[in-house]
Amino acid sequence: MKEPGFATRCVHAGELDDPQGSPHTPLYHTTTFKFTSTADLLDVVDGRSPGALYTRYGLNPTIHALEAKLASLEGAEAAWAFSSGMGAEAALFLTHGRKGILCIGDAYGGTMELLSAQLPELGIPTWFLLGKDLDSLDDYLNQKVGLVFFETPTNPTLEVLDIPRIAEAAHQRGILVAVDNTFASPVNQQPLALGADFVVHSATKYLGGHSDLTAGALMGSKYLLAPVWNWRKNLGTTIAPETASLLMRSLRTLPVRVERQNANALAVARAMEKHPKVARVYYPGLPDFPGHGVAKEQMQGFGGMLTLELKGGYEDAVAATDRLKLFAIAPSLGGVESLATMPVTTTHHGLSPEERERRGISDTMLRLSVGLENAEDLIADLEQALA
Ligand code: PLP
Repeated sequence: MKEPGFATRCVHAGELDDPQGSPHTPLYHTTTFKFTSTADLLDVVDGRSPGALYTRYGLNPTIHALEAKLASLEGAEAAWAFSSGMGAEAALFLTHGRKGILCIGDAYGGTMELLSAQLPELGIPTWFLLGKDLDSLDDYLNQKVGLVFFETPTNPTLEVLDIPRIAEAAHQRGILVAVDNTFASPVNQQPLALGADFVVHSATKYLGGHSDLTAGALMGSKYLLAPVWNWRKNLGTTIAPETASLLMRSLRTLPVRVERQNANALAVARAMEKHPKVARVYYPGLPDFPGHGVAKEQMQGFGGMLTLELKGGYEDAVAATDRLKLFAIAPSLGGVESLATMPVTTTHHGLSPEERERRGISDTMLRLSVGLENAEDLIADLEQALA
């Protein structure tokens, strides 16, 4: 039989066949599971049977079901679910990044702190290459790099990095490639099919989609994910079953939400492009955006995130942000409700003005996470705030 389509897999992949007739996987709060014999227990302990054993290990039916769904959505052999996106990244870096990690482009602040301060304290070398300097990629890959890591599109400038190009250059040297697919979601972009070895998610964002759960996910081959399992187990960063159940609920509606967010973001981007108070709109779906060509090649939709660069100074941008009524001032993203944040006050607040300038992040940028409201209401809110 032909493999079911993406939306069908969102609803059905991984779901347990419940003997009580629940159409969805039940929530097993259980921390430990009993066996009818020691032989059965040893089959699970020794990995011969995939049964339930202990929830921190991830050996819990609700977590198993979630992981089967997560793997299916990224076209992966396997997935591990974590208590947060940072939990997923930390386990990945500690397993496959110990030789050295090259981070390309801008990345989430927590990732940057882990890579620039904490991992080097453990003796793990890390390098940073801005997307605009990608022509030097080969020089960087010739260092002792074991893992290349990047987000695309990036935060907050929505820079689009060419996944096949980077994967090919890294693979020529036996270097593994991990893509943080949080901003795009698997609805819009499937990095494994484009050549990446790992996909990592802050499932707190689009996968969860309702700003009501914190979780992370890592997808890849069974072979590469196997050793990550031990790190997750002993760092204790496994997803909680309650969160796993909530996340499965969310994944069933993922394409419906993201397709609407794509359409709303495009409508907002087009309206803001023409606005006299807006100097520039950063959105991969706009034909004259620098990353549009690559985005068209590797994305099926352009996402719900966009950034406006406002005219005037910092104080004007703060005043406009504070006048927003429908967009909430909040730093997260990917939920059903629209959020707005000035990167200089949140995600990039800790960087020096020089470093922000080097990364192309100005004091008047306003990043928008576009939700599921009516696009005309969102546009009207921005217009009244900018007036
Ligand atoms: N990756 C990206 C792109 C993010 O935006 C975030 C959080 O904002 C993370 C990773 C970390 O995820 P979490 O907050 O779930 O640990």
